[in-house]
Amino acid sequence: MATKSWASGTRVAKSDHSKPKAGELAYGKGDILTIVETGTGKQHYKARHNTTGEEGLVAATNVREREAICVDPSLSLMPWFHGKISGPEAVSKLLPVEDGLFLVRESIRHHGDYVLCVSYSSQVIHYRVIYQDSKLTIDNTQYFYNLLDMIEFYSKHKGAIVTKLLKPKEKEGTKSAELELSKTGWLLDIRELTLGGSIGEGEFGAVYEGDYMGQKVAVKNIKCDVTAQAFLEETTVMTKLQHKNLVRLLGVILHNGLHIVTELMAKGNLVNFLRTRGRHIIEDVCEGMEYLESKRLVHRDLAARNILVSNEGVAKVSDFGLTKLDCKASDNAKLPVKWTAPEALKKEKFSTRSDVWSYGVLLWEMFSYGRQPYPKMSLKEVKELVEQGYRMEAPEECPPSVYALMRCCWEAEPRKRPSFQKLQEKLERELTKQQPWENADPGLNPRSSVSACFRL
Ligand code: ADP
Repeated sequence: MATKSWASGTRVAKSDHSKPKAGELAYGKGDILTIVETGTGKQHYKARHNTTGEEGLVAATNVREREAICVDPSLSLMPWFHGKISGPEAVSKLLPVEDGLFLVRESIRHHGDYVLCVSYSSQVIHYRVIYQDSKLTIDNTQYFYNLLDMIEFYSKHKGAIVTKLLKPKEKEGTKSAELELSKTGWLLDIRELTLGGSIGEGEFGAVYEGDYMGQKVAVKNIKCDVTAQAFLEETTVMTKLQHKNLVRLLGVILHNGLHIVTELMAKGNLVNFLRTRGRHIIEDVCEGMEYLESKRLVHRDLAARNILVSNEGVAKVSDFGLTKLDCKASDNAKLPVKWTAPEALKKEKFSTRSDVWSYGVLLWEMFSYGRQPYPKMSLKEVKELVEQGYRMEAPEECPPSVYALMRCCWEAEPRKRPSFQKLQEKLERELTKQQPWENADPGLNPRSSVSACFRL
């Protein structure tokens, strides 16, 4: 059965194939072909010609991978942008006039505005592009977030101007990135992209999940002209690098600024991954401790180092070395001071509630990714300060609800701390409030908002 898969992506023809048999695709050497289906035999692919749009079979041996784009500072998303030049200079650049030849310049008279200069019918027409309310407009009807969008629009529609923009007049020393991307096969087709929900917030714009010809992809959209240009350079570097442990670039789309399309990493970023897994570990540990509590057993050494994780990701409480029936301690010297409740340290009074104290410290360890509790403090200092009411601060980016839970576990008065049964109920109740996707598979949550992932 043929599989619809874009995983094999775009290919480049190695040689001419100008006399195709029935069902085959015609192409020339260097033409860019997009694989639409890979057969099981892998001898032939069903491919689409990126220029002619025709579809047909191509021999797998007659295509090769795309080549990397050279990192070249002259590569520009806006080769038609000439900066601060005067009207007459723009005219001289657009000579000999050719219908639809255009450039954009910065207005000298109106600071912050631009001028679109277009050749038409043996003359050059200058359209003032007004910048107002963070948007650009020529006719106060059609508004654009940036020049890229504006040029894209007037290349497809005549709108209020005299002709569609047909050919950019490139500034000396610049090369059209669009042309280069298209020639090398890195330019993807917006029509093949279906955008889904947002999966992250980058510094320069949102990241969405999507589908590109059957493949799940992540799409970063950069709207600002200048930032898009900076990202173009990052992207050209990515065209050179292919490794199983580097996120793979699938290509870019020039529409509404720049869309960078990469493979989708379904489990999202590591911070989220650790935090969502953490949620389950916390639950597992709490359940184990609730069981000990029901047996009236006290662990006395509950800490992250004593939680082991199975192949299936189940966390189990281990090291029962100190476990005793609810009673007094016998060997104070061996106590894990930073994890032990003050009454246990001072009066050797161990109980399930002193285990709850340790559980709070374990939560702190989880949320600081295994940091040593009370960083930089000696055991003596910890003993004294905690006795006086000092408590650790929340780990960086720890959701307030989790920190609140830690603080409950660190109540000075053991009776005021919740039991494991109560903690368990609280966790269970709060976790069912999660979004359906958060319960389905904790690792599958690719959201970047940490607090959204761990609500207690
Ligand atoms: P920026 O570099 O603009 O700050 P990032 O590339 O760091 O943006 O992306 C922001 C967030 O979007 C990431 O932390 C992650 O949650 C999500 N994200 C980005 N790329 C992918 C991807 N390929 N697959 C899944 N999630 C992604």
